[in-house]
Amino acid sequence: PEIIAVVPAAGIGSRMLSECPKQYLTIGDKTILEHSIDALLAHPAVSRVIVALSPQDVHFHRLPVAQDTRVTTVIGGGQRADSVLAGLQAAKEAQWVLVHDAARPCLHLSDLTRLLALTATSEVGGILAAPVRDTMKRAIGGRSDIDHTVEREALWHALTPQLFPQALLHDCLLRALNEGATITDEASALEYCGYHPELVSGRSDNLKVTRPEDLALAQFYLTQIQS
Ligand code: C5P
Repeated sequence: PEIIAVVPAAGIGSRMLSECPKQYLTIGDKTILEHSIDALLAHPAVSRVIVALSPQDVHFHRLPVAQDTRVTTVIGGGQRADSVLAGLQAAKEAQWVLVHDAARPCLHLSDLTRLLALTATSEVGGILAAPVRDTMKRAIGGRSDIDHTVEREALWHALTPQLFPQALLHDCLLRALNEGATITDEASALEYCGYHPELVSGRSDNLKVTRPEDLALAQFYLTQIQS
């Protein structure tokens, strides 16, 4: 089946404390966004990547990846889910879509391959996820003292890429947005509509570059992938 990837990259990255949105910071010879796009295109089943950009974006068109005919852009929206929806409108011919954070440059091809195997066995898709390793505490509502320890056996970190049938993700995102649901990843839109996407165990070095200290870690992981 044809698989198209959507990369929401319309955020402004305010937590990185830098002028430049985090996806445009450079690691090695290319930007974080380019590492993320290249990791998706490394799989032969991924035919195109659609990048959702902020209307104010001044960076993307200067990148070498902008010349790649497999890579196109759309204008994103006010929230991540709006940006993904804009990307999906341009991916109507795809049976399956992958959604991948612009700021996850360390995706391994083996993880992508394992996730894509779901296209043969699943009707709702799934996400890369990593088991929680720390002991998890729930605080008493709005405070900083501990109420209780949350059982961590059933807890996972949601990563990306996330893989869904194109039409199903489109319908679930639209409904969740219209009904004002809280949507922090694509799977949450499916959950809101009563579906149960699969958790596919992925590598924990597939980090999202969020804080300044994540940059050095991502740089290290990328040298590991390339060596
Ligand atoms: O802010 P956060 O790290 O959760 O953003 C996740 C991804 O969603 C980032 O790649 C960001 O560029 C993207 N995003 C978007 N449109 C928005 C807000 C965030 O594409 N309106």
